[in-house]
Amino acid sequence: MIHFDIVTIFPEVISAYTNSSIVKRAQEKGLIKIDIHNLRDWAIDKHKSVDDTPYGGGPGMVMKVEPIYNCLKELKKENSIVILTSPKGEKLVQSKLHQLSQKKDSHYIILCGHYEGFDQRVHDNLVDWEFSIGEYVLSGGELPALVLVDGITRLISGVLGNEQSLISETFNTDNPDYPTYTKPEIFNNWKVPEVLLSGNHKEIKEWREKKSKLSK
Ligand code: SAH
Repeated sequence: MIHFDIVTIFPEVISAYTNSSIVKRAQEKGLIKIDIHNLRDWAIDKHKSVDDTPYGGGPGMVMKVEPIYNCLKELKKENSIVILTSPKGEKLVQSKLHQLSQKKDSHYIILCGHYEGFDQRVHDNLVDWEFSIGEYVLSGGELPALVLVDGITRLISGVLGNEQSLISETFNTDNPDYPTYTKPEIFNNWKVPEVLLSGNHKEIKEWREKKSKLSK
């Protein structure tokens, strides 16, 4: 089973997502475990502060190193991989999600940043891998952490109702997924392609292959 520890200053943002849909079901099935931690629990002062002003001046606040260090000291196990959300990190791609989903008995500790990001000493000394979900800057690492958890979880065997859907999907093959339709046959004069109603499996397969290549 894959165990995720997510460290954040907004636990409720994480739980809103992890308590629904596929990620929720994967936990219920015992295929993953998610623990959400409030970084403030490891703050070292009575105000529970996890950030401070930058040395050398400049705008914004920086996430302090000590709370992260203390948190990791408590959470880390032998097999842990410490993961940092960062716009400067390695761009997340489907093949990486696949790789992370295939490791049995993994423990991923995901750190969500805020403000100006982390004290550089966190990057330099405490993490194994930094990832970015794209070339844009968000206000916090919660959405990137959830992107990672969701993307890994749905690839774990037994999570999805029908794993056939993983085979043809976009980014798994060289070609994007083929277009899909459901009832009704005609809506607003928009018609479902004739071939899909034909029941001719060979033709349907060929049509899907063609369409999949075309939408690249
Ligand atoms: N000053 C930093 C941005 C900090 S954004 C810079 O210019 O590089 C605050 C936090 O949001 C980061 O620490 C990270 O945890 C998260 N974050 C923002 N954008 C992200 C992205 N594209 N991918 C992953 N994490 C991101």
